Amino acid sequence: MIDVLVVGSGISGLSVAFLLAKEGFNVLVLEKEEIPGGNIQTEKADGFILELGPQTILADKKVEEFLQLVGIQPEYAREEAKIRYIYKKGRLIPLPLSPVEFFKSPLLSFGAKLRVLKEPFVGPSIKTEESIAEFVRRRLGKEFLDYIIDPFISGVYAGDPESLSVKYAVRRVYELEQKFGSLIKGAIKLKALGPGGRLISFNGGNHTLIKKLAEKLSLDTENVVLKIRKKEDRFIVDAKKGKYEAKSVVIAAPATSAGYLLRDISWSASEVFDQIYYAPIVVVHVSVEKGSIPKGFGFLIPRVEKRKILGVLFSSQIFEKRAPEGKELLTVYLGGSRDPEIIDYEDEDIFSIVDKELRDLLSINKLEFLRLTRWKRAIPQYTLGYGRYLELAKTLEDENPGLFLAGNYLYGVSVADCIRASYSVAERVKNFLRARG
Ligand SMILES: Cc1cc2nc3c(=O)[nH]c(=O)nc-3n(C[C@H](O)[C@H](O)[C@H](O)COP(=O)(O)OP(=O)(O)OC[C@H]3O[C@@H](n4cnc5c(N)ncnc54)[C@H](O)[C@@H]3O)c2cc1C
Repeated sequence: MIDVLVVGSGISGLSVAFLLAKEGFNVLVLEKEEIPGGNIQTEKADGFILELGPQTILADKKVEEFLQLVGIQPEYAREEAKIRYIYKKGRLIPLPLSPVEFFKSPLLSFGAKLRVLKEPFVGPSIKTEESIAEFVRRRLGKEFLDYIIDPFISGVYAGDPESLSVKYAVRRVYELEQKFGSLIKGAIKLKALGPGGRLISFNGGNHTLIKKLAEKLSLDTENVVLKIRKKEDRFIVDAKKGKYEAKSVVIAAPATSAGYLLRDISWSASEVFDQIYYAPIVVVHVSVEKGSIPKGFGFLIPRVEKRKILGVLFSSQIFEKRAPEGKELLTVYLGGSRDPEIIDYEDEDIFSIVDKELRDLLSINKLEFLRLTRWKRAIPQYTLGYGRYLELAKTLEDENPGLFLAGNYLYGVSVADCIRASYSVAERVKNFLRARG
């Protein structure tokens, strides 16, 4: 019998599987699609390396430790990638990287900067749960929300700060207020003003990590899991290619699939997990002439600027060898919960929006479209009341020993969050298997 059957070969499933296989457990990963990796997909075309999903991974010590264990060398972002821009009223303004730069920057008005200085004196909220927008307006003011937090949330979640929960979506920020009564005081005490890691990818793109993990695992692709049942001390897993018996199961598929697979074990899981909203994203890869864009990471566009594009990454400037000689690669993001309908637009309409806005925003006059990717359910939104989903996940695990849940809808949406979370999931599985004998 299999020790651990993992459903899903996204980074969550593969990392948990890898950590357990390394401990000598017999692990099998089943994946629905032909190519493993879930959101992490890289394509190569005409000398370009196109990231269809995540572009950069913010690697802290834990993530670097994981990569070392896997035996893969990260590729670090170039120094210039530290420059990030925010679009404001026709200009790209560099995001300030220090308090001094912040006070010199034209990004916020003088009044808005003074408002930020009041932050340490702002009292706590009387509400039980606040949205990110409510929290930021209360602590830092509306302009800070509009020109710094809104684009940041768009960059991470493709989300709307009015509906995301500060407690669940940006827990670290929420905890600063809880512990220190002020974000500024907390950040100074923890010296936590920096990004907390280095931006990385891999030679050949992020899918190189997936390939490396897959090589080390027993993974069966194009084998969709259909149902998971419990029978005495084991799980029976019905999949397209057959029936499997496992001592434990880790479901590392998106929330809706996880709920559906568990319909035999918990009907409410399938109903409740189905309510988690995943914002759609359209990704457009564009090639432009070298020298036609500024140096840096890219830019984000605040909602108040009323553009269709959410943000643009200067992909070939972040990492080496992403575009052929004489060209730059741009990755353009549209949609999100700001503009979900765009997912259903015709390709031509999306290209024409990108064409018009890029010419306008960057004064580019020659661009070539390389690829358009639609993610209908891209990123789970940790909205107000999200705690109920986390409680359900915990209850499911508590009531069904041997069943474990993993994935970006539980422990954070970034690739780094998924890798970090895999350690605690693997630890729980390990403890269960050792106790079971
Ligand atoms: C466009 C885009 C850009 C992003 N940019 C960044 C970024 O720059 N940096 C960053 O850190 N993060 C980024 N993210 C977020 C990050 O990529 C994801 O949160 C993360 O990769 C999710 O990994 P996961 O393993 O939890 O889920 P997934 O990647 O969704 O993997 C789940 C897997 O389960 C499989 N599956 C589902 N149902 C079944 C079934 N019944 N049987 C078998 N298999 C099944 C799926 O096919 C899939 O392979 C981005 C995401 C998107 C979509």
